[in-house]
Amino acid sequence: MENLKILEDRKGQVFEKGKDKFDLLCGVKSASGAVSQRACVFCGSRVVLYPITDALHLVHGPIGCAAYTWDIRGSLSSGPSVNRMSFSTDLRELDVVYGGADKLYKAASSLIDKHSPKAAFIYSTCIVGLIGDDVESVCRKLTLEKGIPVIHVDSEGFKGTKKDGYRAACEALAKLVGTGDISGVVPVSINILGEFNLAGEAWIIRDYYRRMGVNVNAVITGDARVEDIKRAHGAALNVVQCSGSMTYLAKIMEEKYKIPYIRVSYFGLEDMTSALYDVAAFFKDSPEILERAKTVVKGEVDAIMGELLKYRNELRGKKAALYVGGAFKAFSLIKALRVIGMDVVLAGSQTGNKEDYEDLKKISDEGTIIIDDANPQELSRFITEKKADILIGGVKERPIAYKIGIGFCDHNHERKTALAGYEGMLNFAREVYSSVMSPVWKFVPRNDAFGGKRGRP
Ligand code: SF4
Repeated sequence: MENLKILEDRKGQVFEKGKDKFDLLCGVKSASGAVSQRACVFCGSRVVLYPITDALHLVHGPIGCAAYTWDIRGSLSSGPSVNRMSFSTDLRELDVVYGGADKLYKAASSLIDKHSPKAAFIYSTCIVGLIGDDVESVCRKLTLEKGIPVIHVDSEGFKGTKKDGYRAACEALAKLVGTGDISGVVPVSINILGEFNLAGEAWIIRDYYRRMGVNVNAVITGDARVEDIKRAHGAALNVVQCSGSMTYLAKIMEEKYKIPYIRVSYFGLEDMTSALYDVAAFFKDSPEILERAKTVVKGEVDAIMGELLKYRNELRGKKAALYVGGAFKAFSLIKALRVIGMDVVLAGSQTGNKEDYEDLKKISDEGTIIIDDANPQELSRFITEKKADILIGGVKERPIAYKIGIGFCDHNHERKTALAGYEGMLNFAREVYSSVMSPVWKFVPRNDAFGGKRGRP
């Protein structure tokens, strides 16, 4: 383990509270040779846009780029399901030599005719950036011919970090927002930005706001319809749940349509409650909204508290490591884990910014490792050193936990269990409890980062 050194280029991206001077480096491209856990620019854009249910999503590139399909990263729909199908132009050597624009035009044209989507998103991948296909002009031509918005997502994988993919997605969305009729939008309306309805969470959250008397005009993009997005500029407030991916769109809408935005999180009791009260505070001219919010919160908390306390008694003192997409989620998870008696010994993210990490440092305990853009070796090293009992992360982190021989909780886009809202908090506690306390760990020796047996502490 001692042999496992942090790469020289990565040293600024790792911090231990109480030990190091805090000046965390973040928002930079992944260091060469670091085998980053981060996805590419294109992947960042599609995680944001794919949940739009009645849009066609066509990946312009080699077939491999389109591999991460709905079956892996599902997002539930209450109606259309065009987004469940994966389409690629399947670029090959001849297309690279002669250009792929004609192939793109033919593919998009026939797919639009066949599936009648309300809009189409065309994603540029690395090779398209290299061969220089004029995707914009293909999109313009198709928009005129088909009578639907055909939007280029400028998302070549090599040209930045996953965060640049979020930005490309926001730019694509901004082309839709403002093009719909808002005459029917009621004044007490919000948009939720950055909630992707992976396991029905957008429906849970919508219901809380409905019970408060607040209309959700558009969820961008969980269970979204193109029409909802087109008239998103009719809402009074943007509520940004996944700040890493959607703050850019919120800022565009603030500037263009004078719609203010607030940042919230729907994970954990404390932040979920704030997300309701903050919206109620915005509509302060309607005090009944706050009263209804209090009723919602009390009812929901009362319904789950008994079971949560049971888990808290069992899990007290257990240790968790977190590695998530955006740092804002990490704050919520630290608070949620404290509710069930657990300590966080490592907190990291793929796309956190300076302010996020400052805040993360403030709420972390002494000795906590804070890490930006980690790789498997670093995660393995710190999980082992800090004796974490569970890793909370996404699909790429799962094998790290199991190879070390500790529990794992999927808190990313591949999960099938709702973890947002009050019922999501209870599901989260159940999952963490089941994984940490599983009898299987009695039969699995804990390993170090290289697979060497260390025995359980
Ligand atoms: S890095 Fe480039 S080639 Fe790889 S998946 Fe992303 S867009 Fe495709």
